Amino acid sequence: MAFTVAIDGPAGAGKSTVARKAAIALGFTYIDTGAMYRTIALQVLEQGMDPEEAEAVTQVAQQSQIVLSPLDTDGNQTVFVRGRDVTKEIRTPEVSQMTSRISATPQVRTVMVELQRSISRESPYGVVLEGRDIGTVVFPHADVKVFLTASAEERAQRRYHELLGKGVEIRFETVLAEQIERDQRDSQRVASPLKIAEDSHYLMTDGLSIEQVVEQIIALCVEKGYRAEGSMSS
Ligand code: C5P
Repeated sequence: MAFTVAIDGPAGAGKSTVARKAAIALGFTYIDTGAMYRTIALQVLEQGMDPEEAEAVTQVAQQSQIVLSPLDTDGNQTVFVRGRDVTKEIRTPEVSQMTSRISATPQVRTVMVELQRSISRESPYGVVLEGRDIGTVVFPHADVKVFLTASAEERAQRRYHELLGKGVEIRFETVLAEQIERDQRDSQRVASPLKIAEDSHYLMTDGLSIEQVVEQIIALCVEKGYRAEGSMSS
């Protein structure tokens, strides 16, 4: 099994930026598991489906043919569903809310977890996966497990500025309220709720730069035996 780095945490903790930078630095495949769940929510919305219809939603998951492109040098990843580029569409607040609803369905999670494991098996050097259940369910024996978080206020601020940067018109209070709602749903669901794995490294990122967080993750990987290609072992 390739070297596995599991990064979990609540919405807006900076997982995505940190996980992408760590994957590039390590030369590993990056797997954005949230993006996978988001593609299902997008289709549920587009098709006007009832998210509580577990069987129909699971069928959507089984037929999605989700493909995540390799990261480009700027850390961008393109997300495809049956060949269609949905990278932008899956990032709207509406999709975020729907995602935390459909991801509570155990059968949908089974399909996604299987896909996450199979992409990981095919990754030649190593993988960085980010999500909510990576260290607890998908890879309980991951080489490095990190639980990344920040205060609710700081996380909502980051998300708010990210959305503004993308041209989404939204009030800060709305972002905060939606985040609290999503955190609650993600932590309280029965199937694979967001929780800290016992052997996870807890990283509270308030006041830390992205670079500092990435450095800490790389250091943990080195501690667990990761060696950069071409580096000399002593
Ligand atoms: O990480 P991101 O914000 O893109 O995740 C969107 C939603 O997908 C989360 O709020 C959560 O409901 C769901 N998710 C999940 N399990 C994962 C990753 C994401 O349930 N491993």
